[in-house]
Amino acid sequence: MASLGVDLGGTKIEGVALDDAGRPLHRLRLATEREHGYEHIVGRVVEVVAALRPHAPDARVVGIGTPGSLSARDGTLKNSNTTCLNGRPLREDLEARLGLPVRLENDANCFALAEARDGAGRGHEVVFGVILGTGIGGGIVIGGRVWAGPQHIAGEWGHHVIDPAGPACYCGQRGCVETMLSGPALEAAYRAETGVDVSAAELARRADAAATAVMDRWLDRFGRALANVIDILDPDVVVLGGGLSNLDLLYTRGRDAVARRVFNDELRTPIVKNQLGDSAGVLGAALLVA
Ligand SMILES: [Zn+2]
Repeated sequence: MASLGVDLGGTKIEGVALDDAGRPLHRLRLATEREHGYEHIVGRVVEVVAALRPHAPDARVVGIGTPGSLSARDGTLKNSNTTCLNGRPLREDLEARLGLPVRLENDANCFALAEARDGAGRGHEVVFGVILGTGIGGGIVIGGRVWAGPQHIAGEWGHHVIDPAGPACYCGQRGCVETMLSGPALEAAYRAETGVDVSAAELARRADAAATAVMDRWLDRFGRALANVIDILDPDVVVLGGGLSNLDLLYTRGRDAVARRVFNDELRTPIVKNQLGDSAGVLGAALLVA
């Protein structure tokens, strides 16, 4: 049976229809336009699904990946950085508008699922998928299935506090991994030292003293944060995704930083780049229904 997947992000909504062998039949992207609020975003998702359905007329369920997760208490969305979605019955409202059942899952979990099944984590039993981008997410896949936990927060390392004196996070804490390791945080650290705005990729190429100091600190924090996860989960592989996963030094100096912090005399865990690129999230959403 064909399947429909939607990746509902803060800036874009991506959709894909897959045939029964998992091959893309049709895909499209729309801007989320989140500044227009909750009802508008729901309408945008409905538009995407309406455009996909003729390509997968036998699809009976829609898989949706988005930041945050559904509350076990009342089924409303929580923890999304698109904060206008929080506290709203997103799945129920989408099911009512679409006339189809919706499986909704955290976007990092969708990323981890796609990479575990068809990407860099294939063949591994326990996969920790990491999103390093505008936000920081994480998802756990065990035996080819998402492990979300009874509270739907499993893998959310982005809100581990690594510096209680650090910057305020939208989640209410200070110094979360997300506020220290995200792309905007990295760029802000360099701007604070130099007054100069450069992208994370450019920063990684620069050899000036400020760039070196900022990158050293960032890699050390990456090592501290990821070692904490590995100490708990001891996954068979860690797959990195998101825009910052293209920084090659994560796999050399970043890995060394993890090895220095992990509770072991060596680090055997492979830390690898994703294979599915930007598509992993939406492919994972479609796999939720497969
Ligand atoms: Zn936080």
